[in-house]
Amino acid sequence: MSFDLVLFGGTGDLAWRKLMPALFQAFRHGTLPAGGRIIGVARDDLSDEQYRALIRARFDEVDLAKRPSPEEFDRFAALLHFLRVDLSKPQDYQRLAADLRERNADTVVMYLATAPSLFTAACEQLAAAGLNTPNTRIVLEKPLGHDLASNRAINETVRRVFSEKQIFRIDHYLGKPSVQNLFALRFGNSLFEPLWRRETIANIQITIAEDLGVEKRGAFYDQTGALRDMVQNHALQLLCALAMEPPINAHADAIRDEKLKVLRSLKAWTPQALAQDVIRGQYSAGNVAGEQVPGYRSEPGVNPDSMTETFVALRAEIANWRWAGVPFYIRTGKRLAGRDARIVVNFRPAPHAIFNSPPGAANRLVIHLQPKDGLELHLLAQGQDNRQQKNAGQSLSPVHLDLDFDKRFGSGRVGAYERLLLDVIDGRLNLFVRSDEQEEAWRWVEPIMEFWRNDNTGPRPYAAGTWGPSAASAMIARDAYCWSEEC
Ligand code: NAP
Repeated sequence: MSFDLVLFGGTGDLAWRKLMPALFQAFRHGTLPAGGRIIGVARDDLSDEQYRALIRARFDEVDLAKRPSPEEFDRFAALLHFLRVDLSKPQDYQRLAADLRERNADTVVMYLATAPSLFTAACEQLAAAGLNTPNTRIVLEKPLGHDLASNRAINETVRRVFSEKQIFRIDHYLGKPSVQNLFALRFGNSLFEPLWRRETIANIQITIAEDLGVEKRGAFYDQTGALRDMVQNHALQLLCALAMEPPINAHADAIRDEKLKVLRSLKAWTPQALAQDVIRGQYSAGNVAGEQVPGYRSEPGVNPDSMTETFVALRAEIANWRWAGVPFYIRTGKRLAGRDARIVVNFRPAPHAIFNSPPGAANRLVIHLQPKDGLELHLLAQGQDNRQQKNAGQSLSPVHLDLDFDKRFGSGRVGAYERLLLDVIDGRLNLFVRSDEQEEAWRWVEPIMEFWRNDNTGPRPYAAGTWGPSAASAMIARDAYCWSEEC
């Protein structure tokens, strides 16, 4: 199968850091279909050779194990081409059209790795140049809009030009092996399904913590914030994977229909819930891994009076039979105590205690997403010989089963972007987000944005290197629970 992958924004940060390394890995693993071209597109005037040289230089920044040898790069470079196209200039699309028509590949992928402000014009001009053929697929990077209205506007334009089955909206979390394993855990095993409900589960915690600050993306982040950058997309997609009903099969729409139902079942915000159950924070100077780091407002590109949140913790509920009354806590932020993405499923304690167990002890399933990829099942067991003690033999201690997927399957598993790029080329939509899911997610976060706009108390400060503002702990403590690292 021949393909042309047109990488709009082919000289940008995303292309260098994520897409090219992922394409190279697919090439190295032999999974990239033969007979393909990767065409970088931007406004620079580069020859193919100059583009290849730029990419070769950028590979020096990639992890050693993922870096090509000179011979490997030469073979990979044969796929790379460059075309100068200014997406805002209609006449430039003719050059692209002529190039693509001449080759007439079986599949054409248009990957829009550019600012979302260019998406609408790009789609309209692709159509005007006759490039919305049935064998074309379009890939849209996040953020797809900054609120419900802008998201709808982009989706409406794209859908005027491409049918839904040609549109691949990326949420790279769905491509992570650890998230695939969450689906496998739930729908490939029967063990947990009878327990996966309100009768047995006390609460579920989703944490996506980063220890990094905004790095070089301060200006972008200051317009975005943690709610739009992480909650509206990644965290809600994880919540869907945790809470959805088993789909009738593994086809894209069967999965997406079930995720949509979860989003539609999210309990609507009340003024009281907005005031109590959503905490926003912003990091101040602090110490991360022994290094003194500046506060958010002193980061390059950030407004010194910025009210943008770098941390969000919230309490959600899903109003359906399976989950009614079970709190789902979501927490994400920058400059937190560590890089750690995990889901903690806290089961209810045994209904009647016949042993001496540590206070509050109960079973817990920890699903590690990043940097570790694995599962821990926390149980209570009688370990030490405690015959000397009162109630001899009846005291239980916490122990856990530990499954490390990296050790079990090797760390060379297919990465998120590699997996997603191959899926686009193969036309598999399972791991991409449908427009109605996105709209529903925006609909749910919009009242939070509105509440913050009218609340001039602003985000609560937290010292870099901590787990966020203490109000996040107070929020969960109101339910008599605690974040997993606190208890
Ligand atoms: P970037 O570094 O600013 O790169 C933008 C790219 O678009 C450059 O190649 C630029 O090249 C090209 N471009 C800009 N205006 C153009 C025009 N009128 N016509 C043709 N090409 C144009 O941005 P980025 O960080 O790669 O981000 C790209 C998209 O991915 C954004 O939507 C971003 O939110 C999203 N994203 C990025 C990351 C990340 O880690 N970087 C992660 C997730 C999502 P010229 O200026 O030379 O034309």
